[in-house]
Amino acid sequence: MVTIKIIKEIKEMQVYSNRLKQEGKTIAFVTTMGFLHEGHISLIRKGKKLCDKLVVSIFVNPTQFGQTEDFDTYPRGFEKDCVLLKQEKADIVFAPEAERLYPEQYQTYVNLLQLPNNLCGLSRPTFFKGVTTIVTKLFNIVKPDKAVFGQKDFQQLLIIRQMVKDLNFDIGIEAVPIVREKDGLAISSRNVYLSPEQKPAALTLYKTLEMAKKLVVSGEKKSAVIIDKASILIESFPETFIDYISICDPETLEELETVKSPALMALAVKIGTTRLIDNTILSF
Ligand code: AMP
Repeated sequence: MVTIKIIKEIKEMQVYSNRLKQEGKTIAFVTTMGFLHEGHISLIRKGKKLCDKLVVSIFVNPTQFGQTEDFDTYPRGFEKDCVLLKQEKADIVFAPEAERLYPEQYQTYVNLLQLPNNLCGLSRPTFFKGVTTIVTKLFNIVKPDKAVFGQKDFQQLLIIRQMVKDLNFDIGIEAVPIVREKDGLAISSRNVYLSPEQKPAALTLYKTLEMAKKLVVSGEKKSAVIIDKASILIESFPETFIDYISICDPETLEELETVKSPALMALAVKIGTTRLIDNTILSF
């Protein structure tokens, strides 16, 4: 019978990881906020192949949510997640308590100077500080050899890679492509917030990216023209509010006036109260 070990205590996780290391075993790690879906599973399957043991964390990290954001209502489903992780043969679920990770008097944060000052970081000014802090803490607890992140959160992936380099973490960062629904919608835990009426608007994010890909292949290189067309398409749906649409350098995230190959096109759109992100690489 497949068993899965659930660890909630930080010390227990550290002891477990130390023991694996002493036995010469390697550890792959997938960080999640739970409410698992096909996107997470793709990371988990990749992680399974990379190392001897796979640890998956489930933790809705309060420090990456702004005061007006959806921390309290973020979808949670621990029991179901554990069943899924068992099916996927993950070895450990690490699900710490927020009070243990951030006790009273907590005062250390990890922050990057440049990459967060773009895209999502502009409207979510404390988000990446929360992400880099929790990922650092989880890396120190789980001690992975490899960690897997999704390209769905492209900026986050770049930031983690930079942080690992800057802070000399001895951890290989692996990326997994965006997993989409059949209709193209990027899978996200937040998709459950969408009403059936809002679904077509959500789908335009993907359609917009596909349109942009075709435009650059057919010779359009002015970012402003592509972004204009994208905005018109998205705003043709009710209840949509564009946070950003950006065509930028896929390494520095600096905006590009003229599309180069490859370029990153990334967008964040609020549909009603649900904020969705998506991205693609433009190339010609
Ligand atoms: P989250 O639980 O949303 O914090 O996501 C945990 C990890 O899963 C992150 O590395 C995400 O980039 C990744 N992820 C979430 N959704 C997808 C998706 N649709 N395709 C690929 N990776 C994803």
